[in-house]
Amino acid sequence: MSTTYTVINPSTASPVTEVELADVDRTDAAIERAAAAFPPWRDLAPGERARLLRRFASVVDEHIDELAELEVRNAGHTWGNATWEAGNVRDVLNYYSAAPERLFGRQIPVPGGVDITFREPLGVVGIIVPWNFPMPILGWGMAPALAAGNTVVLKPAELTPLTAIRIGELALEAGLPEGVLTVIPGKGSVVGERFVTHPLVRKVCFTGSTAVGKKIMAGCAEQVKRCTLELGGKSANIVFADADLAKAAATAPYAVFDNAGQDCCARSRILVQESVHEQFLEQLGKAVQGMVVTDPGADRGSEMGPLISAHQRDSVRGYLDDVDVVCTGPAPDGDGFWVPPTVVAPRSTDDRVWREEVFGPVVAVLPFSDEAEAVAMANDTEYGLSGSIYTRDVGRALRVARRVEAGNLSVNSHSAVRYWTPFGGYKQSGLGRELGPDAPDAFTEEKNVFIAHEEATS
Ligand code: NAD
Repeated sequence: MSTTYTVINPSTASPVTEVELADVDRTDAAIERAAAAFPPWRDLAPGERARLLRRFASVVDEHIDELAELEVRNAGHTWGNATWEAGNVRDVLNYYSAAPERLFGRQIPVPGGVDITFREPLGVVGIIVPWNFPMPILGWGMAPALAAGNTVVLKPAELTPLTAIRIGELALEAGLPEGVLTVIPGKGSVVGERFVTHPLVRKVCFTGSTAVGKKIMAGCAEQVKRCTLELGGKSANIVFADADLAKAAATAPYAVFDNAGQDCCARSRILVQESVHEQFLEQLGKAVQGMVVTDPGADRGSEMGPLISAHQRDSVRGYLDDVDVVCTGPAPDGDGFWVPPTVVAPRSTDDRVWREEVFGPVVAVLPFSDEAEAVAMANDTEYGLSGSIYTRDVGRALRVARRVEAGNLSVNSHSAVRYWTPFGGYKQSGLGRELGPDAPDAFTEEKNVFIAHEEATS
């Protein structure tokens, strides 16, 4: 039995379209088709698989504006972000289109014969995508999995299925055989869970909340199923007194309020050395008040859009009860799920707003005394995804970068995820890495083959 979901434009709270949600039977049928499509896809000549992925990338490229427009409407993303995100799908497909022809094994010296290793694809890979970055996260899982010779079933988030559905159609247009990539809109508790329990799905790539990630990992354990988890974050932006303070204050809002703070890498804790704390807060306040927060559908210059849903808006507002607000930026009135960019001063590091992932445009600022205290405060969290360090002292930058327990750090910048480099979390921010040159390996088994050779007799 199928049900439908009404997609809502979060900038206006008005309906966009209806999407049919798959039930378990439809999910099973799609997984079986993906399993049937696997042997011919695996056995395709590497150069031919590469050619199809490059063709897929160029078809995505021809539809960048259409995909961006869909994301502005479906997710309230700014035009700049949505265009970058569609371009990211194209770039990631192009990057991993080089992988089929470079999926090298090794030759290992052993006595009595020859030993070689092969990188064999796993079979069907299930990818579960959250609503905050529907296009990039889809691409980061799909592209290396396909390049390594797997077939893919992909579930977008209930709230944001439109770009994924379109990209699934573009894959067919580009000539990918039926069943190689199947987009299955549906509920997490139905389609997502079936990826975990269906024995033909050999790996699950999950991006989403830490709570659901733990359930996925426990479910995968039943079949010793491979899984990659990209989960939440509570990342620190550490500003030392010797930093370029004007730059640190001007850029800090964009490191947390981008995508209205619905970013697992959001630097939502700012740690400022106490001698420049007041000065920093003053400059940060000016930068926050200068942000352009408007409906991205009506204003291409918008720098921050709405939250994804009324539920998310209410959850974020809940963090603002009983907290000292330092300053707020602008936000439109009227319909839509708006919360202005907000700077708060927690009373202690025990405050909920300092410890929990708010996933909205709220940043908490606290002072620290010295390098050791900054590192201790940054690491005082169960998360460990990203972070930034602002200082002019190269030695300190390196020392702190080595000591902060997080997978992705940037010095004097708030580097976004780059597809050339590995991405993933420490501690409860995740398990495994995506992107970078080694990503296709994570979608393979390493097989070892020993070939005996006879002793020479003459
Ligand atoms: P969520 O965990 O509720 O949902 C994520 C996806 O999982 C959705 O597609 C959902 O339908 C599906 N799902 C839900 N329950 C499921 C179940 N029982 N079995 C299988 N699938 C299920 O998260 P969300 O609210 O969509 O996204 C926000 C969260 O994602 C935040 O915590 C954020 O930090 C995290 N996130 C992490 C990264 C990263 O790379 N580390 C990136 C983006 C988002």
